[in-house]
Amino acid sequence: MIVVFLGPPGAGKGTQATGQAERLNLRYIATGDELRAAIAAATPLGKKAARFVESGQLVPDDLIIELVGELLAQSAGRFRGVLFDGFPRTIAQAQALDDLLAERDTAIDIVLYFDASPEVIVARLSGRRVCRACGATYHLDHLPPRRNGICDRCGGELYQREDDKPATVRERLRVYEAQTAELLDYYRRRNLLVRVDAEESIEAVRAAVEAVLDGLGASNG
Ligand code: AMP
Repeated sequence: MIVVFLGPPGAGKGTQATGQAERLNLRYIATGDELRAAIAAATPLGKKAARFVESGQLVPDDLIIELVGELLAQSAGRFRGVLFDGFPRTIAQAQALDDLLAERDTAIDIVLYFDASPEVIVARLSGRRVCRACGATYHLDHLPPRRNGICDRCGGELYQREDDKPATVRERLRVYEAQTAELLDYYRRRNLLVRVDAEESIEAVRAAVEAVLDGLGASNG
């Protein structure tokens, strides 16, 4: 099963994706998480990507496509499928993904579009906190950790991503509108797109996402 979570930053894709990937035994590929880890470890990819990520720009397609190709090669045969979060973000990436999947005799089953207005997104991103150790995400109002500043899952330290600060959030939304929004049409035309109202509560969104993914599993056998 190949699933893509699409939508603006802050729509709640990551919050939903980790749980669904675990539940359905899908390899979770979040290019933003991979890039942040590469930057923290100062790998060659991290060094090339840092200035783009820190300013809210998209990292060049060739770097991202190579990264995803490597991640897919590593996970071959170990999962029931893949859940992509934050990838693809451009038409060139979407075409490259189709090719990578075709080489493996597979294809995208569904693209879930997390729809939320800019006002909701800015409020969500400004309250978001992320665990430095395991990457789990929290929200100061909607999903607070049990202990202030400390991850419930692993006890790691919570921090605010540099690119979740207001000026960079505005730039990320502009980039999303300019480059990623056109992917909606790309997938709508192929009948792969299903919209989820991402302004609902975390629980309500989870129920909607599960209904769609479970319906797919049932019809695919
Ligand atoms: P995210 O965690 O998905 O919000 O991604 C954080 C940042 O990583 C983005 O603002 C981009 O700079 C970079 N990034 C993540 N995924 C991609 C992608 N598929 N294409 C280009 N840049 C990406």
